[in-house]
Amino acid sequence: METLHIIGGGMAGSEAAWQAAEAGVPVVLHEMRPHVATFAHRTGDFAEMVCSNSFRSDDDERNAVGLLHWEMRAAGGLIMQMADRHQLPAGGALAVDRDAFSAAVTEALRAHPLISFSNEEVTELPSSGKWIIATGPLTSGALAESIRAATGAESLAFFDAIAPIVYAETVDMSVAWRQSRYDKGETEEEQKAYLNCPMTRDQYEAFIDALLAAEKTEFHEGETAGYFDGCLPIEVMAERGRETLRHGPMKPVGLTNAHKPEEKAYAVVQLRRDNALGTLYNIVGFQTKMKYGAQTAVFKMIPGLENASFARLGGIHRNTFINSPTLLDSQMRLKSRPGIRFAGQITGVEGYVESAAMGLLAGRMAAAEIKGATLPPPGFETAMGSLVNHITGGAEAKTFQPMNVNFGLFPPIEAKGGRRGRKDRYKAYTDRAKEAFSQWLAEQS
Ligand SMILES: Cc1cc2nc3c(=O)[nH]c(=O)nc-3n(C[C@H](O)[C@H](O)[C@H](O)COP(=O)(O)OP(=O)(O)OC[C@H]3O[C@@H](n4cnc5c(N)ncnc54)[C@H](O)[C@@H]3O)c2cc1C
Repeated sequence: METLHIIGGGMAGSEAAWQAAEAGVPVVLHEMRPHVATFAHRTGDFAEMVCSNSFRSDDDERNAVGLLHWEMRAAGGLIMQMADRHQLPAGGALAVDRDAFSAAVTEALRAHPLISFSNEEVTELPSSGKWIIATGPLTSGALAESIRAATGAESLAFFDAIAPIVYAETVDMSVAWRQSRYDKGETEEEQKAYLNCPMTRDQYEAFIDALLAAEKTEFHEGETAGYFDGCLPIEVMAERGRETLRHGPMKPVGLTNAHKPEEKAYAVVQLRRDNALGTLYNIVGFQTKMKYGAQTAVFKMIPGLENASFARLGGIHRNTFINSPTLLDSQMRLKSRPGIRFAGQITGVEGYVESAAMGLLAGRMAAAEIKGATLPPPGFETAMGSLVNHITGGAEAKTFQPMNVNFGLFPPIEAKGGRRGRKDRYKAYTDRAKEAFSQWLAEQS
């Protein structure tokens, strides 16, 4: 049987190797550590957790990442199995003993009769055979260059510059209105593509004060080179002058307040649609290094966002990722070279769990293909399916930035409003997802 090669023994590569080998396919796992280091990894073990030791919420009834845990457990995921085995007390979160966890993943992979290892840096995108590239946010420079040469300069990013993403239903539309600047666009949908939140002069001044005072996170050593190209954090723009934002992402020109047409806003915050479903909107130009708590407090000062819920908060990180919506097909294969799949954070998902989940899927899909079958992705109503759908087509390709799993990626379920209604709806989402995911697994057995 044809061998599957996997580059990168992180969260995604380890899970992909396990899934493919468990399906009976021989695997070679190529990992460069410890011979070649990254600035964040410390060991030569597989599935090293580079920062926090948390897999986040384990609530599989009302939390999207908890649901993803559930799906990965149901699919016999190695990462979840070892996380459960080395769990630490952490309230509702799944925290693990990081060294014991990655040692256990390493031991399980090394003991598998169908997995062998190549301890080297792969420096070129392979030209033949079946491969999964799972080299993560810190993909080595030579391989990144080779990926860039094959896919085009615009298709590979070395930094993420994530603006906060808001659930559309939590924007107060009695304050905000829909309009594109200067009503640009051919269709009405385009002319009303943005949500606009107006500010008076006093509100703007208070907002700038809050931005300047907010707590910020520091860059990791070795992380900053080149990041200032075109993605300044908003607080850095505010530091350059109190008016900078008003002449940049918050400029009020070309917009008329639909609720108060006679009132000219002093500044306007714009939100742009982030997914095809229209459930998520990002705050345009608001990439930031503010700490998460500070972000929530500061962004809720924006008129119309006082009660906003955030699907994800902003950030700027060293992060190598491809423009998956344009480059990958729904089988996670490079359209231009179908022998190559991508998995993990390099596909534009974000986080240990999401990366491992994309590894699980890519491993299963590649194994099925080698055995002469095609494994369709799980349905959009599952956590895994909604995430792969987002990166391979659901997301806006032009503004594509890495994404965590969240309920905004799922086809909506209507329910009564309010906090209570939302909780019941989340349960409805997870019930629907579990049924669909179980069905997907059953079809493979
Ligand atoms: C500084 C930093 C902090 C982070 N903190 C968190 C956090 O707290 N929580 C969270 O959920 N996520 C965090 N992340 C994101 C986290 O890295 C990912 O979620 C997760 O590790 C990605 O899994 P992966 O398998 O895609 O990549 P990784 O786990 O990074 O695995 C990629 C592997 O590929 C190897 N590799 C790279 N290039 C080559 C090559 N050319 N040849 C051979 N091997 C290669 C690397 O050595 C590595 O082992 C952080 C990322 C960074 C950079």
